[in-house]
Amino acid sequence: MTGDVIVLDQVGRRYAGGVVALADVSLRIGHGELVAIVGPSGSGKSTMLNVIGTLDRPTSGTVLIDGHDVARLSDRQLSALRATRIGFVFQQFHLAPGVPVLDNVADGLLYAGVPRRERRRRAEAALHRVGLGHRLGHRPHELSGGERQRVAVARAVVGEPAVLLADEPTGNLDTSSGTVVLDLLHGLHRAGTTVVVITHDREIAAGLPRQVQMRDGRLRADSRPVPSGVS
Ligand code: ADP
Repeated sequence: MTGDVIVLDQVGRRYAGGVVALADVSLRIGHGELVAIVGPSGSGKSTMLNVIGTLDRPTSGTVLIDGHDVARLSDRQLSALRATRIGFVFQQFHLAPGVPVLDNVADGLLYAGVPRRERRRRAEAALHRVGLGHRLGHRPHELSGGERQRVAVARAVVGEPAVLLADEPTGNLDTSSGTVVLDLLHGLHRAGTTVVVITHDREIAAGLPRQVQMRDGRLRADSRPVPSGVS
């Protein structure tokens, strides 16, 4: 057991057809860090997100998430780990259309076995936290893009995950809405949440405390490398 939430040790991911999307990636992310994984299109960022998010298994190397060795878990155990310990935010928001935002967020707790009334209570608190306490009954189409992404952030954190993974979270937003969402991620970080942001945007990456640079499936640079073997 280490103090790190995310440990990748010599991780490789080769797709059928021979494409090497990740090669020999070793990375440790500690509790409460806010990290950008940055690189151009095709550099392996999404593959890395999928591996960290346990949506995909590596073809070589070791992945530990919140102390769990992903290779040792069944698909069912992985789903449980994902549902309770990992929050996701995507560029396209992925909210349920036509469903009030309170329920969109409350549904983030469906798999955690929380009773409905408690789900809704926590969802309301999470929406207050992202500044949308006055929009509980709105449906996604009645919100701006920035507000939708704030709902998505509330849904991702309502279960108090060990790690929040955000994939190009400002990719569909204008600059000012994007700034609000980034400020929100900074706020979560200050409150102790571990946040990993995937971005191709160097400027966004530069605004975060740590940058991990990817190129051609390899880790090219890490602004704050953690010595391996420390546990
Ligand atoms: P990024 O997110 O940085 O754009 P990706 O992780 O999506 O990069 O892709 C890394 C490399 O793996 C690219 O060369 C891409 O074409 C390839 N790739 C991604 N997904 C697949 C797949 N399902 N099958 C084959 N090759 C893939």
